[in-house]
Amino acid sequence: VSVDDADSDSGRVRVSIRLRPRNPGDLPSDADFSDCVELQPEMKRLKLRKNNWSSECFRFDEVFSETASQKRVYEAVAKPVVEVLSLHHILQALTFQTFQKDYVGESVLNGYNGTVMAYGQTGTGKTYTVGHLGRDDPSERGIMVRAMEDIMASVTSTSDIVSVSYLQLYLESIQDMLSPEKNNITIIEDPRTGEVSLVGAEVVKVLDLDHFLQLLQVGEANRHATNTKLNTESSRSHAILMVYVQRSAKGKEQNEGFVPQNNTRVNLSSGTGAPKILKSKFLIVDLAGSERIDKSGSEGHMLEEAKFINLSLTSLGKCINALAENSPHIPIRDSKLTRLLRDSFGEEDDCICIAFSIGWEDNEKLWTMKVCGKLNEI
Ligand code: ADP
Ligand code: MG
Repeated sequence: VSVDDADSDSGRVRVSIRLRPRNPGDLPSDADFSDCVELQPEMKRLKLRKNNWSSECFRFDEVFSETASQKRVYEAVAKPVVEVLSLHHILQALTFQTFQKDYVGESVLNGYNGTVMAYGQTGTGKTYTVGHLGRDDPSERGIMVRAMEDIMASVTSTSDIVSVSYLQLYLESIQDMLSPEKNNITIIEDPRTGEVSLVGAEVVKVLDLDHFLQLLQVGEANRHATNTKLNTESSRSHAILMVYVQRSAKGKEQNEGFVPQNNTRVNLSSGTGAPKILKSKFLIVDLAGSERIDKSGSEGHMLEEAKFINLSLTSLGKCINALAENSPHIPIRDSKLTRLLRDSFGEEDDCICIAFSIGWEDNEKLWTMKVCGKLNEI
């Protein structure tokens, strides 16, 4: 992440921030939001006023105001991770100044792993941003559905396979949200390639977008949610959607020179002239609420829960900082969350995008912003 140098070509970790619109009951109607937060989307900056005398500026790769549509957020944050950009998209992105040259070719559909994560306090719009199904209004579809739409549209050959696992990480244990009886899932890491596989997790082949929506709905119904004083529907678990894409690289993109050189994930099938098979993994993570334990008034079991959530978020932060610094050591072993994400952290060219969201609740957002700031100051 680079804050001070907006033109830096380090595109390995990108951090965007989205401010969600005010919900009824968030704040007294006369409270003036602009008193504490000022978005400057054109400058990709956010100004946080601490008090009457001092304010702090944070710079992001993208800043979305409360009027930003789901489509706009998807296209700026996740689409470049998913898709081989067409000339049309590049022109469109240039118009919105969201184009990053690093992304051309380094996409999930081109055989690279990619990750998109939503981080923020409970109630700030993480699930809305990544997981909204948009059943009643397709314009509300979140990143998961839009990404799958693009992936399915590019998977044309009968030999291409798209499959998904949908997991929940709760108190350092992994549950399968597609079949909750499977609660004994273990993470296996290949010491040679660093590839992560999940033993015992359901992997379902996606037939079409409708089928995927059904799978998400099943997952959603199973997602563990516990009430806290902050929000009666607060999600206390991390939800992780893993999309496995396997497609043959023959055809248009290859002719246009989009297939990356030296891609370690390209498996050459036997025989000369046989099509290359591109394998990749796309992770979309809806992280548990980042609120601090004391502020959410947690006690007993809830306190345990909050500690585990904070453990995984803290170790995630350390890994992201290490990545952003191009550090050779990325402390992935510290928590299950980071072990799960290992092969998204490992390779030089993998793209990671993080969407932070801030809301209106109370001064918690100052804490959330501090975490962003730490990442951004690197
Ligand atoms: P989180 O997952 O971070 O706890 P949610 O995604 O559940 O937060 O959002 C909290 C509430 O705010 C939900 O009712 C959601 O529909 C609403 N919301 C969040 N972001 C938006 C947005 N960009 N536009 C409209 N409503 C939103
Ligand atoms: Mg949520």
